[in-house]
Order: sequence, then C-alpha cells, then structure tokens
Amino acid sequence: MSEPENLDLNKLNLTRTYTPEELEQINKYLKVRTNFEDGRLISLPQTPIAHEAVVHEISRQLGNWNIDTCQNGVVTTSQGAFNFSTTAPRKIRAPHVAFTSADTYNSLNAKQLWTLHGRPFTPIFVAEVVNSTSDQILNEVDNRFKNDYFAMGTSVELGWLIDPKRRMICTYKKNNNEIIRNNCKWEDLDGGDTLPGFTLNISIIENIVSQECNEIEDKCPYCDKHFFQVFAMLKHIARVHIVVK
Ligand SMILES: [Zn+2]
Repeated sequence: MSEPENLDLNKLNLTRTYTPEELEQINKYLKVRTNFEDGRLISLPQTPIAHEAVVHEISRQLGNWNIDTCQNGVVTTSQGAFNFSTTAPRKIRAPHVAFTSADTYNSLNAKQLWTLHGRPFTPIFVAEVVNSTSDQILNEVDNRFKNDYFAMGTSVELGWLIDPKRRMICTYKKNNNEIIRNNCKWEDLDGGDTLPGFTLNISIIENIVSQECNEIEDKCPYCDKHFFQVFAMLKHIARVHIVVK
C-alpha cells in the first residue's frame, strides 16, 4: 500500500487538521492508540500491565454476561473506535470498554463495520479506567463522559469511571437531557436497565490491584468436592451440576 499523497507519515503534525480519509490512512500506519478530534490527532500512550489487566477484566465479565444472557451484543476495548460526532466537531474516541447492542450492531453496513467513516453510531455503555495521579486527569475524563460519550444524540445510556488504585467509582446516566453523575461505593456494581442482570464483581479487580488471590476452603454443595478458589468451585458447579436444556 502506498502512502497517501502529500502526507509525510514521518512528520505527523498533532496540531494540523486532517481529512477523514487521511485519518484512515494514518491509522493504518500508526502503531499507537489514537483518538481523533475535529480532524486532529490525539495520541494516547500505551498502558502498563495493571491498568490493562483491569480493562480486560471488566470486558471479560461483560463478555461473559453478553454470552450467558444471550444479549448478542458486542464488547469492544481500548482499540475499538466510535465516531461520537453526533453534532458538530468530528470526534473519534475509543473508550476502554464499550458495549454495543445487538440491534445497533446488526444494523451496520459494511462501511460502518470495516471503516471509521460510515454513518456514526455509538455504544450504549462505556467504561473508562483511570489511574488518577491528579485531579486534572479526573477532570479530563469527566469532561470526556459529559461532552463526548453523553453528547446530545449518542446512544450512550450508562458510563462508569473506575479508578482501581484510589478505589473510586463514578457512574454517569442520562435522564432526559441531563447527565446524572454519582459517586459510588467501592463495591459490586449493578448494570441497571442498560445491562440487565450484569453485576461487575469488584473483588476480582481488587485482586488485580493488590496482587492477591483470594483463597477459600470450601466444599461443593452438591458433591462435597473441596475447592480453594471461589471461581474454581463456580466453574465446577456450572460444568458438572448445571444441566442446560
Ligand atoms: Zn460438585
């Protein structure tokens, strides 16, 4: 593939404005995560292991729920970009975790599925994982929720801002045209009407941050087999004792 004409990929200018076609070309060459805002490139640094492990854990739990409850939606992570420019400036953002409903996903055409310049669509749920060493970082993410994810015309109904190091959770919800932000306790988090039946198990995220593995000593209530880890027992119960018809 040849480089786009008049575009020197070795000298990308973060202050220049690019066309959607140029952005698409640039995207193919870039090896880092980027967001686009109003034709400008915003580079996003690669993230350390603890951060990405938390992002993965949230998406894993969400993915399991998606399959287990037959939602047939789609879970995307840090590289999954959406065009949030429902009103004026063009904003392409990749939330750390996002859930797109089956209805939306199944309605997408080839251009929307495989390029970033089809007609915009957005997920119904987004989560951002933050390692907030300063209030400035928190404010920045807070603005992203309010101005981009929950901008007028997006499909986003629920947002979670999670700072595992500070043990902090904020939820964002749309109520008519208002965005309601709530500070929540550091405990299991309910997906409400947007993600019916989904509860984020916070203890696994806690374990990632603390590098601990919760050991128990317990017996399977059905066959008395011994287990030292809750999830090993749950998996055993699901596999051996739950008969799916
Ligand atoms: Zn058993």
